[in-house]
Amino acid sequence: MNDAGKSDVLVVGAGVIGLSIARALHKCGAGMVTILERGSPGRESSHAAAGMLAPQAEAETPDDFFRFCRASNELYPAFCAALLEETGIDPEFDDSGTLYLAFDESDLHELGRRYEWQSAAGLRVEHLSAEDTHKLEPFVSPDSLGSLYFPEDRQVENRRLLSSLLSYCEINGIEVISGAEVVTVSGLKGIADGVVCSDGRRFSAGSVVLATGAWTSFIKGAEPLQGIPLIKPIRGQMLSFRAAKQLFRHVIYSPRGYIVPRRYGRILAGATTEDAGFENKVTEDGMTLVLDHALEISPSLESLPIQERWSGLRPYAEAGHPVIGPVGGMERLFVAAGHYRNGILLAPLTAELLSELIVNGEESMFVRQFSKGGTAKFKTV
Ligand SMILES: Cc1cc2nc3c(=O)[nH]c(=O)nc-3n(C[C@H](O)[C@H](O)[C@H](O)COP(=O)(O)OP(=O)(O)OC[C@H]3O[C@@H](n4cnc5c(N)ncnc54)[C@H](O)[C@@H]3O)c2cc1C
Repeated sequence: MNDAGKSDVLVVGAGVIGLSIARALHKCGAGMVTILERGSPGRESSHAAAGMLAPQAEAETPDDFFRFCRASNELYPAFCAALLEETGIDPEFDDSGTLYLAFDESDLHELGRRYEWQSAAGLRVEHLSAEDTHKLEPFVSPDSLGSLYFPEDRQVENRRLLSSLLSYCEINGIEVISGAEVVTVSGLKGIADGVVCSDGRRFSAGSVVLATGAWTSFIKGAEPLQGIPLIKPIRGQMLSFRAAKQLFRHVIYSPRGYIVPRRYGRILAGATTEDAGFENKVTEDGMTLVLDHALEISPSLESLPIQERWSGLRPYAEAGHPVIGPVGGMERLFVAAGHYRNGILLAPLTAELLSELIVNGEESMFVRQFSKGGTAKFKTV
């Protein structure tokens, strides 16, 4: 085993979660922060995502997880503005809002149900007629029967966000080491003191954070990692169209799919939800499904060339929610994984909570609220 260096905090995984945590730790004065990445930084789920910041379009009920999503959404304008100032890279935060369309009786029923609980919870939501929906988005299918408008659901260009976070690391001396696959967390007397990589390199640290997405359950730490629920991959396939002009202004959902208009005529369409193990690839069936759902939203898309097809592995925690906090059984070992469909949305708040916990020992309201206590020493949110 060869000694490859010592840091105050080692963050394992350079997705949106690991990169955001590293930045927040640096801002909190955590000392020397190093990121270890198995492959290339920012190329897994965070790269594959659609960048929607859409708690209201995604949620089924006003539960604690929904409140957590909303709280992270509120951090987004300042998060993106700061990153732009710090790095000069614009994450293209867009607060135009989101539409949720209905095409039949059952969709209308779903719209009604969402409108009811969201307006009762004091959230901003508007019910639009078919005519008003078409006024807002003229290229939406004429078969649409109306929509809900969520003015506070937003989007960000997740790939630019990743570039901006990586640039923050470079500017501020946070080393991102690619090709470093962590296999084991090491510890002495129940306190984490570093990690060992598959090539035998050993990195020492005062604290270790696992931000390893869908691969978290592979990391060995003997006793300590037993407290983390199984995290498994759920594949999502997407494609994008290229338009000569901007056709849509809002993120547009139906109960079956969504389209996300980006700058310069790029339009994303997504996404499948598949339990296909670690097979991260595009399939013919997957593409047909995504295309069908996109064309239901707007038949005008049919004439556009397809620009890109891709897939990614969403990290799904068995608990149903992300796992964020200390890992039971080993001090100074932390985890932030299992963000499933909402990791882009939840990055700023996850980063804030973990950095406060690591640097100041402060358990935030959310970490306390979701603490299982007793034998489950990790925190779930
Ligand atoms: C098709 C699709 C659409 C999505 N759309 C949205 C959306 O609109 N909005 C939203 O909020 N979320 C969305 N998501 C979910 C979001 O992408 C994820 O929740 C988020 O990216 C998870 O971030 P992460 O950093 O935990 O994981 P990842 O981005 O997967 O990063 C984990 C990193 O850890 C590295 N790693 C793993 N194991 C090791 C190891 N042993 N040693 C070193 N490094 C390791 C990996 O190589 C990887 O780079 C979508 C996901 C998909 C697939």
